[in-house]
Amino acid sequence: MAVLDQLTSQQAIDLENKYGAHNYHPLPVVLAKGEGVYVWDVEGKKYYDFLSAYSAVNQGHCHPKIVGAMTQQAQTLTLTSRAFYNDILGKFEKFACEFFGFDKLLPMNTGAEAVETALKICRKWAYEVKGIDENEAEIIVCENNFHGRTTTIISFSNDSVARKNFGPYTKGFIKIEYDNLEALEITLKNNPNVAGFLVEPIQGEAGVYVPSDDYLIKAKALCEKYNVLFIADEVQTGIARTGRLLASCGNCSCEHKNCSTAPEVKPDILILGKAISGGVYPVSAVLANNGIMNVIKPGNHGSTFGGNPVAAAVAMAALEVVRDENLAENAQVLGELFRGEMSKYIETSNIVNLVRGKGLLNAIVIDDDEDSDKAWNICLALRDNGLLAKPTHGNIIRFAPPLVMNEEQMLDCVDIITKTLKSFEE
Ligand code: PLP
Repeated sequence: MAVLDQLTSQQAIDLENKYGAHNYHPLPVVLAKGEGVYVWDVEGKKYYDFLSAYSAVNQGHCHPKIVGAMTQQAQTLTLTSRAFYNDILGKFEKFACEFFGFDKLLPMNTGAEAVETALKICRKWAYEVKGIDENEAEIIVCENNFHGRTTTIISFSNDSVARKNFGPYTKGFIKIEYDNLEALEITLKNNPNVAGFLVEPIQGEAGVYVPSDDYLIKAKALCEKYNVLFIADEVQTGIARTGRLLASCGNCSCEHKNCSTAPEVKPDILILGKAISGGVYPVSAVLANNGIMNVIKPGNHGSTFGGNPVAAAVAMAALEVVRDENLAENAQVLGELFRGEMSKYIETSNIVNLVRGKGLLNAIVIDDDEDSDKAWNICLALRDNGLLAKPTHGNIIRFAPPLVMNEEQMLDCVDIITKTLKSFEE
């Protein structure tokens, strides 16, 4: 078989199964093309994409402006490493700093690397600015977090599948309940060596858990009170996904008129990934002000590909698309429509308990236990009906389409979803 031969779906699946490590359990569908809110499989069947590569493709598949920026830059200069300056990284850093309201940016490639970067910055700040004794710094994290897959990050996960047999684990983390301000305050009070609080503004992988309205604002105030850095992991929630540029909504350039809650929650350290490139290229970034970021000196941290010219060009174009196409506002409006329509369906449904989410990061909870395969079977039926989604857990299905969707398409999707769900009702 020549490399470029057109494969059937089954052939492609067999190849991955035989030659690829089995570290994922994909829905059996083999995609060959994407455009906007749609993807096509190798047999030419068209689907609505309701996962958006875990919220990386917020700007829609193969956005021409982003692909154009990548193509142009790829033909000019792709990689110099940070051994030399390049003529586009600084432009991207300035653009992104002004876009999100921070002094400095540290570019990386993947979300997990950006989280690792934030943890390192936080620890170094703890020793050099806060004055914690060497090797004593602690970082508070939340139960059921998802921050990526590195050894340190899984050390503070409570997902047994992600952790088991990957020890010994990295020390220096204290886990508390999510959305529990009392637990945060007690932990801060009892542990003077706490340097940071790492939190997802909405817990995406855990099943789209939206905390109480005042959680982030009060958590940030507690962090200020105890001189602890508030670190927002917006890898999944950021870049317009939840109806605002950032779910924690800092002092950013977002002018979204429904931005009613917590405009003053500006993270001390902001972690971005996924949609910062529109899903076109692996780009991630950590942003902070000088008082924090300046602890990083040459040799402390880096990555061969982090901040390469293609990444910089792609990320600038991707952020421009978010701004120019009002994607935060669209996510807000369509998210309300989606949850409104799903709530109407749930009133008479005997298999869906609830819908929750913000903007276009939503989930439905199926009336079954965590270990059931009902959500998986519903996703197979959704696929057959032309819509791709995936359970986050046995009984939770996340719905996160590209933010370039229009109202007509959303209503069409609601129709597909509700008809599919109805076919599972007893
Ligand atoms: N942080 C959050 C909140 C995420 O949702 C993810 C990925 O889903 C990550 C970090 C890790 O990103 P990556 O898979 O690019 O390493």
